Amino acid sequence: MAKRSNASYKVKDRAKRNPDGVWGIFCKNLESKCHYCRQNLVEPISGKNQTYNTRTFDHLIPASGGGGTTTKNLLETCSACNNTRGTSDYLTFAIFAEFYLRPQVEELGLLTRHNANRLWSTFKNKIPD
Ligand SMILES: [Zn+2]
Repeated sequence: MAKRSNASYKVKDRAKRNPDGVWGIFCKNLESKCHYCRQNLVEPISGKNQTYNTRTFDHLIPASGGGGTTTKNLLETCSACNNTRGTSDYLTFAIFAEFYLRPQVEELGLLTRHNANRLWSTFKNKIPD
């Protein structure tokens, strides 16, 4: 069976191969918590599926919106937040995370993808057009 890999795992490989490159510099200062919800992050394990709190790298300005892969445009986020944000505007999602996701983490100690998605749907419905 083919070995599964994920982007975050490849990032660590790239950082090791080129310590002076973007990923090398970025990975030197990794934190242990998600930028958005502040839940504790776990390292991705090669060959295993990501869990809700696996460390992922999110682009502040999405790549599809012209955001580059530079140290200033990268954020460490949990898999749940990264998947829920998608290509949504950074500021909107950051405000949402502050008021909806962080209290969830403070109360339960974790944020699952299901909870993040459910809260995001509720929040988006409240934003006037
Ligand atoms: Zn998060």
